[in-house]
Amino acid sequence: MDDAEGELGQLAIVFNETLARLERSFTELRRFTADASHELRTPLTAIRSVGEVGLRTRRDEAAYREINGSMLEKTDRLAQLVDSLLLLCRADGGPPALHLAPVDLGRLAQEAAAKLEVLAEEKHQILTTEALGPVAVDADRVVLHQALMNLLDNAIKHSPGGAHVRVVVRERAETPVVEVIDTGPGIAPEHREAIFRRFYRIDPARSREAGDAGLGLCIARCAVEVHGGEIELETEAGQGSTFRIVLPRRGC
Ligand code: ADP
Repeated sequence: MDDAEGELGQLAIVFNETLARLERSFTELRRFTADASHELRTPLTAIRSVGEVGLRTRRDEAAYREINGSMLEKTDRLAQLVDSLLLLCRADGGPPALHLAPVDLGRLAQEAAAKLEVLAEEKHQILTTEALGPVAVDADRVVLHQALMNLLDNAIKHSPGGAHVRVVVRERAETPVVEVIDTGPGIAPEHREAIFRRFYRIDPARSREAGDAGLGLCIARCAVEVHGGEIELETEAGQGSTFRIVLPRRGC
C-alpha cells in the first residue's frame, strides 16, 4: 500500500466516524425535542381545559377566583419546566462559565434548607442542617445551590409526613461532602443509575400528576460535575436514601 492510499484510508475512517457522531447527535436531539414537547404539552393541555370548563357556565366570583388560581399554579409549573429545559440546553452547549469563589458549604446548606422549610412544614417534617466544622470549596454558588435545592426538594417530597430530613456537611478524608439524607422509600437497584437521566421517573403517572418532569437529578448531577465533583447514592428499598455531593478540595 503506498502512502496516498494509506492517507485516503485514514481520511475515510475519520469521515465515517464524523458522520456516525453527527447521526448520534441528531438522534439525541430528536429524542430530546420529542420528550420536551411531550412534557410541555401536559401542563398546556391542563391550563386549556381548566379555562374551557370555566367558561362553560356562568359562575360566582369565588369560583372564577379558584379557576384563575388553578391556571396560575399550572403556569408556574410550566415556567419551572421551561427554566429546567433551558438550563439543560445551556449545559449541552459545553461547560458553563463558572463564577468561582470561596463558598462555605454549611451556609449554602442552611440557605437551601431555609428556602424549602415551608415545604417540609407542610408535611410536618423536621429539616435540619448539621455542619461538622467549617467546610469551604471553590465553587459557583448559584450553580451549586441549584444542585442542593433539587436534592433537598426530592428528600422532602419522598419522605413521609413527620419524617426527619437531614443535610450534613462534613469532610471525608479531607474531601468536602454534603449529604442529603431522607427516610423515604429508597430506590431499587434497577433505577439507581437511570434516575440521573433526563425525563426518567420511577412512577411516571404519579410524577406527571404532581408536575415533576424527571429533570431534577439530571440537573443536580450536571451542576456538581461541572465543578469536578460527583453525586454518590446510598440507598436501600424501604430504608431511605442518602444523596452525597462530593467536591474537590480547595485549590485542587
Ligand atoms: P423530578 O424532578 O421529577 O422529581 P428527579 O430527576 O429529581 O425528577 O428524580 C427522578 C426520579 O427519581 C423520581 O421520579 C423519583 O421517583 C426518584 N427519586 C428522586 N429522589 C428520590 C428520593 N430521595 N427518594 C426516592 N425516590 C427518589
